[in-house]
Amino acid sequence: MTAAASARQILTGLHEVMAGRTHAQAKLDAVVEIIGESLDSEVCSIYLLREGALELYATRGLNPEAVHVTRLGLGEGLTGTIAKNIETLNLAEAKAHPDFLYRPETGEEKFHSFAGVPIVYRERAVGTLCVQHVDPRRYEEVEIEALQTTAMVLSELIAHHELIDGEHALGLGEAHTGPEVIEGLSLVKGLGAGRAVFHQPRVSIDQVMAEDIEAERQRVYRAFDRMREQIDAMGREPEFGKGGEHDEVLETYKMFAYDEGWSRRINEAIDSGLTAEAAIERVQQRTRMRMREIDDPLLADRMHDLEDLSNRLLRIVSGQLGTAATQGLRRDTILIARNLGPAELLEYDRRRLKGVVLEEGSATAHVVIVARAMGVPVLGRVPGIRRLVSEGDDVLVDAEKGTVSLRPSQQMRDAFAGRFEKTRARQAAYAELRDVEPFTRCGTRITVMMNAGLRDDVSALQLTGADGIGLFRTEFQFLVSATLPQRERQQRLYRDVLDAAGDKPVVFRTVDIGGDKAVPYLASEAIEREENPAMGWRALRLSLEREGLLKAQARALLEAASGRRLSVMFPMVSEPWEFDAAKAVFEKQAEFLRARRKILPEEIRYGAMLEVPALAEVLELIAPRLSFLSIGTNDLTQFLFAADRANPKLAERYDWLSPAILRFLDRVMKNAIGHPIDIGVCGEMGGRRLEALALMGIGYRRLSITPASVGPIKELVRKVDLAEISAAMQRWLASPPPDLRAALEQWAAEREIETD
Ligand code: PEP
Ligand code: MG
Repeated sequence: MTAAASARQILTGLHEVMAGRTHAQAKLDAVVEIIGESLDSEVCSIYLLREGALELYATRGLNPEAVHVTRLGLGEGLTGTIAKNIETLNLAEAKAHPDFLYRPETGEEKFHSFAGVPIVYRERAVGTLCVQHVDPRRYEEVEIEALQTTAMVLSELIAHHELIDGEHALGLGEAHTGPEVIEGLSLVKGLGAGRAVFHQPRVSIDQVMAEDIEAERQRVYRAFDRMREQIDAMGREPEFGKGGEHDEVLETYKMFAYDEGWSRRINEAIDSGLTAEAAIERVQQRTRMRMREIDDPLLADRMHDLEDLSNRLLRIVSGQLGTAATQGLRRDTILIARNLGPAELLEYDRRRLKGVVLEEGSATAHVVIVARAMGVPVLGRVPGIRRLVSEGDDVLVDAEKGTVSLRPSQQMRDAFAGRFEKTRARQAAYAELRDVEPFTRCGTRITVMMNAGLRDDVSALQLTGADGIGLFRTEFQFLVSATLPQRERQQRLYRDVLDAAGDKPVVFRTVDIGGDKAVPYLASEAIEREENPAMGWRALRLSLEREGLLKAQARALLEAASGRRLSVMFPMVSEPWEFDAAKAVFEKQAEFLRARRKILPEEIRYGAMLEVPALAEVLELIAPRLSFLSIGTNDLTQFLFAADRANPKLAERYDWLSPAILRFLDRVMKNAIGHPIDIGVCGEMGGRRLEALALMGIGYRRLSITPASVGPIKELVRKVDLAEISAAMQRWLASPPPDLRAALEQWAAEREIETD
């Protein structure tokens, strides 16, 4: 008999049992009879995890008195070993196994052969299903497969309370392991406590046994077709990003999506009587089990991709397609994901998000910038988090220290609460600086502005006492919108921002979409084919080609700022003519409005971002045309080091405090001297204390940073003597020490300047 036929025989029996009107224990008793009969085994037993131990719930062949009496700890005896290791055992002689443990009340001494499989629910063992035989024989592969399929069906039936009565109900959550602390990379600092919510919720399998096998087969075929279409188009998805590691993942996805073996195994599982959903899960469980036996990190990565794909297939086949953002988010959400796109994160209600934990991520990826703007702590680079945590688990995110605690003990909670308190006290101290102007010790006023992108961000101006908004990322509105935001909608946002900012200046950056900020409604042939989107058709390049887009934005900004000052900044200017062309679009729109006697802004200031190194080489050509220049260190770093800012593998490789970057910035500052332009930094670099210190040391007096950094940077400014730090910086840049960060840290420590 084939494995499918053998399993089908059992499932048909199960189907009948489940349709009967008997109580739970009677059903369970009937189930062990059917399995034992089908696999020609004198014994068949089901052990389930209850209150931390495996309890014998039903048996055919062992002493019936032992039911609900025999209990084994995880790892205890063969049964406990199977559950603990989530492994299958197939033994001709059970007693010969080192983990064998004899329990006299069961009367199992006369049985020699033993086979057992774990009953797994959501990747955790909740029990064991075993068969025993008097003859010393190993069970055949088809029998083991049938046992595994049956165990999977049992797990779903148990989860849906169809096989266990109230008295013996299991807390499936009990199967979770205890507290666990995992390290990651702090991407957005802060602390957050709450419950785990998966960005892509697990599909719940409502029906495991098929009514109509042919219909299930057709469902899987259709789902495979849709999944393949999605994979082929996936390069365009913001969730996915582009370049480097993502390309590798995409290639692996393609390989699996078209893999005959995978679809064949799912088909076989359907043959054994499972629904499409259960068949996909069954195959995935088998893969997971095999993976546990192979210790190869490269293969583990690949299997991770297969897991993603398997979940995707499940979502398609079950029609459960939404993300957690659209499904009634709990108030204390700690969001768990492999990675996210900025637009996806923006779909979440920020008040309910207490933290985000990603398996990937890097400090300057746009999703992280968005999280920073939303004020949500993010811990990235936590491999395997989706396996280690279950939906609803208690989670403490410490994105100050760089750890995440799962299912914390009371002691861990108390310690965390203490840290929360400290952070609050620190923040209160920063809040006191709100109305204090940031002068250095030597009396120089440093301009500390903030970055923003959402309407709500503007309230941070008052809360932090920032000098204004040095970078308003207008593309956020484009990212949250399902369609291209119309001019009127843009205008309303810009006017609201200016109104809320009052007397404080606001610098609007024209849209920087493309790259890792893909918007589906602007997808074009050009974007799809890009090999290197960060260096591709994005930001000003895209705006200049889609002139309609820039025109609409120009009109919206000009009208929103009527009678006030308008500061416009163009992103990714690589050559001076691009700045001229963009400015000309604005001037033409201003002309148009003037001709219609509309009130224009009382002053229009045009500026450029310096984030493409080439622009620095022609600074003296462009400087006379600019009112201001803002250095975007996020992109600048990626281009100087040729290191994709969104690639998690490169996240920690290059340091902002490296001589290469600092010398570059130093040179830009020196070349700008003599030109009457405001020059500042608006990348994430300026929001970190040591980095800000270095920037002040090479002459930067204007920073635009994330709102949460305004307090800490103001406090820093007040402790700095510019002559001292610039002397040190010039010395280090002329002859760099082996570790410039360490040198700066020491310099700061000697002056009792906190750097963290
Ligand atoms: C930068 O590149 O440093 C910057 C401020 O712009 P963005 O992060 O939005 O690309
Ligand atoms: Mg940039």
